Amino acid sequence: MCFIVLIASAQRKLMGFTEINTVSQLKWEKQFDSSLSLKNLDTWMLFLSSRPHHVGSVQGKANAEYMANLFKSWGYETTIESYYVLFPTPKFRALELLGSKPYTAKLEEPEVAGDRTSGQKSEQLPGYNAYSADGDVTAELVYVNQGIPADYELLDRMGIDVKGKIVIAKYGGSWRGIKPKVAAEHGAVGCIIYSDPEDDGYRAGDVYPAGPFRPKAGIQRGSVLDMPVYPGDPLTPGVGATKDAKRIKREDAVTIMKIPVLPISYEDAQPLLESLGGQVVPAAWRGSLPITYHVGPGKDKVHLKLLFNWDTKPLYNVIAKLKGSEYPDEWIIRGNHHDGWVNGAADPLSGMVSELDEARGIAALVKKGYKLKRTLVYCAWDGEEPSLLGSTEWAEDHQVELKQKAVFYLNTDGNSRGFINAGGSHTLEPFFNEIATDVNDPQTGVSIKERRYARTLVDADKASRPKLMGNKNIKLSALGAGSDWSGFLQFLGISSMNIGFGGEAAGGQYHSIYDSYDYYTKFGDPGYGYGKALSETAGRIMMRMANADVLPIDFGSFTKTVLDYVTELKTLLENTRLETETENKMISDKLFDLAKDPKVQYRNPASNDVVPYLNFSELENALAKLKENAEAFQKSYATSMLLPADKQKKLNEILYKAERSLTQEKGLPRREWYKHQIYAPGYYTGYGVKTLPGIREGIEQRNWKEAQENIGIVSKTIVEYTRQIEKAELITAPKKAF
Ligand SMILES: [Zn+2]
Repeated sequence: MCFIVLIASAQRKLMGFTEINTVSQLKWEKQFDSSLSLKNLDTWMLFLSSRPHHVGSVQGKANAEYMANLFKSWGYETTIESYYVLFPTPKFRALELLGSKPYTAKLEEPEVAGDRTSGQKSEQLPGYNAYSADGDVTAELVYVNQGIPADYELLDRMGIDVKGKIVIAKYGGSWRGIKPKVAAEHGAVGCIIYSDPEDDGYRAGDVYPAGPFRPKAGIQRGSVLDMPVYPGDPLTPGVGATKDAKRIKREDAVTIMKIPVLPISYEDAQPLLESLGGQVVPAAWRGSLPITYHVGPGKDKVHLKLLFNWDTKPLYNVIAKLKGSEYPDEWIIRGNHHDGWVNGAADPLSGMVSELDEARGIAALVKKGYKLKRTLVYCAWDGEEPSLLGSTEWAEDHQVELKQKAVFYLNTDGNSRGFINAGGSHTLEPFFNEIATDVNDPQTGVSIKERRYARTLVDADKASRPKLMGNKNIKLSALGAGSDWSGFLQFLGISSMNIGFGGEAAGGQYHSIYDSYDYYTKFGDPGYGYGKALSETAGRIMMRMANADVLPIDFGSFTKTVLDYVTELKTLLENTRLETETENKMISDKLFDLAKDPKVQYRNPASNDVVPYLNFSELENALAKLKENAEAFQKSYATSMLLPADKQKKLNEILYKAERSLTQEKGLPRREWYKHQIYAPGYYTGYGVKTLPGIREGIEQRNWKEAQENIGIVSKTIVEYTRQIEKAELITAPKKAF
């Protein structure tokens, strides 16, 4: 026994692997790295981005077939799975400023020299927001900054009501779908969203094609479906959109926007903004157009007319399986979407081509004798851009089988030069950090973990550096919405991660006709060094997940993270109480009246109800028990590598199914599709994550009763989760049970 320990201590041991299996795993990984091909990435990028490939396009289908053939040629059991979804496209678009200085918006992106696909006009979807309502409205215009709830509070204090008006909001501050949703809640009849040059235009850098930033006529397309309620086909919530699925009526689909919404360029936005009268906007609301920004309204009205083809379109998901030899019914799933708004080179193909080469590389190892314990499922999703359509419908359609078999889901999307970013289930943090040590940054040669650490320290303000010094751990961010993990993590409770490189290729091509092969190879990731680094990182995640003797789960990281969230919530509640008391006193002491410029119209804020104390004890007790059990389990984790096969199989099943117990069938308040109780997209932020969402959003929206109820729900969820860990302990440390 001592002899074995001595030898083992001289060797490296991967999380979840025995010493012997570690040696062979690392050997195969080396071979995997050397088999990856920059040339492949370029060949596939060139083909897949050669024509516009949105949902329902000729090239979209051709791309799915092209990739399916690749997977087949590498030995994957491959199918194309189709779903039939509501996908509106523009039939008519008009936006004009009426009155004394009329202007008709161009709503077009011109071809530019040096970008070979920018002139494919007849196949491009024009600038529009998918799932906007049809509408024909003429009304006064009001500028609402980013159009998020806080902006409307300020507008209210300025005495501006958007009821019956059209609002114009700039991109940023939230996911775009929040802007028309909040506008409609405030009674607006139309919504225009524009890209201010401040954010990704000339203020940020040289514009395309000279530089990577958004040219004056560039338009950011994108969905405005109310995805924080449920993503996927609006007509088939909770079930797969198969040909004969039961569909709800379009007018009953709550996720479709209630007012017309249109995205425009800053060239088209300028005359509209210039026409506005009223007060000058607060300093923080100014953009970078050469005008004085006013809130409005102006004396001239705006006319917005939008009509859509409300067609049902087929989706083409590519699903490719490589069967595991020991646990064929345990699935390690990997996905990236293949549809783009136009040519979509950066978003999504930069991630897609990396996934392809990774899948090829692993299959080639298998042919040489590398054994996969578990089954790999490689997916190329269609319809992510409109509303995570392909992945959501697939997850809903296969929910029974996935709940049984899915061990893990790994997502990627766009990828570019820079630093590794990773988000996901917190049980996977130590596992991911081990991998980040083993992959090298293509530009500097140090590990991607070292490079990310250097950047974090350099970016930090001087006061916080001493605390960060030496802490190289990459903290996984919590996942909200934004790409194809939602169906897996938030609907089914499957442990998930999303990874990608970025941060050194900022630009303004996003969702425009300029996100092209020429753009990406010049500005995104010239030479594909980071495409290869992504394959190396994601490939390791897939191979180690597939081949670990015991799944690399760490309940301690999860526990620590949730304890931090609870501390955050208590601080949030305490701060809300103090701020409310202070502001109420300022109102009663008439400080707002005394401070304001009497010549400017400005209302006082309304006073708020006193913030009650909430009782966190049930949750704190549940977490104390979780902590105790998580620590005990992790202590026995190392010995679990030595368990007999049948016990290991049982243990693994408990480990990967534990995440399911973090879901509640009833879902979150007012959005039952979102079942995970720890992570959800914000109801009013969209992409932005809300952790412990039931409690947090109750506090943020001053719904104290709901916040208290959700403390109870989360507590019960944690108790159930702890029970799973206890079950695992019965296998790894059976003595402790007595
Ligand atoms: Zn994408």
